[in-house]
Amino acid sequence: MSPTVTVPAGPAAPTRPGEPRLLVLKIGGSVLSDKQDTGETDFDAIGAFAGQVADLIAEYPGRVVLVTGGGALCHPVGLRIKADRQDPYAAVALTEPAFTMRWAWTARLRERGVRAVPLQVTAMFGERADGSTITETGVVRRLLAEGALPVLSSDCVVTSVGTLRILSSDEVPALMVAEEFGPVRIVTLTDVPGILTGGPGSPVLRHLDPDDLAVAERLFWPTDAWDATGAMAGKVEALAEHARRGAECVIARGDRAAGSLRHLFAPMAEWPADTPFTLISRPWSP
Ligand code: ATP
Repeated sequence: MSPTVTVPAGPAAPTRPGEPRLLVLKIGGSVLSDKQDTGETDFDAIGAFAGQVADLIAEYPGRVVLVTGGGALCHPVGLRIKADRQDPYAAVALTEPAFTMRWAWTARLRERGVRAVPLQVTAMFGERADGSTITETGVVRRLLAEGALPVLSSDCVVTSVGTLRILSSDEVPALMVAEEFGPVRIVTLTDVPGILTGGPGSPVLRHLDPDDLAVAERLFWPTDAWDATGAMAGKVEALAEHARRGAECVIARGDRAAGSLRHLFAPMAEWPADTPFTLISRPWSP
């Protein structure tokens, strides 16, 4: 009989108050592709962000989970899946473009010395008939204990009635919002600096109470027809759910030319003054 492998409890504890134990970093499709015009994925941008993530892992090994946005590759497939009312397993079609994104990241991270491992959320998450969820995160914990980087993305998941549905990349961090990983910070980097209070260039909403989303709902712009996940409205709904379960959720702009992502581990009060963000969390005292 082979010896039992003990599954570690989770990432190392934070070294100071206000720091997360685990950072779930979602890099949105909006900064990796042109969803609106060309429909092209920007593999150079993935390479540039992979360099930033590699530097962060070198500093915080075993404390980061990466979630890749689907962008131009996944949104058209998502729309076709949603339009198909006949096939309860139509969402399986998301597997291919989502894996293409995970592999694009994995290859570029490995070139930079990161032990990146793509994982399929379909095998790690599901819904039970009583409304609770099945989450199998032992492999995530094991990889983190080795200083490796789990690479997740949107995927199809099994519903409470045994069919498949899309779990968006903003919903995926739900897997890590558990006691064993806490405190968890979820940072979603996208093409805007947070929830904007007016049009492009306006100030961001600094804090959003996850129990009172009405203030944000008034600010959402109409969603484009090519968008399968509701843009900012879908993101906020997903992040508010994580925040109600105790995670600290941040929306900020992703900049492929940024020098460092180190501040993502700092207490929120210590983030650089020139880095706007929207924080969705409870409780919060400015
Ligand atoms: P993906 O879902 O492909 O990973 P993403 O996470 O990078 O993409 P979106 O889901 O497209 O990003 O959400 C960001 C978009 O939300 C912005 O590009 C903007 O068009 C839209 N948006 C709607 N309302 C607002 C608002 N009030 N403030 C800022 N952005 C908004």
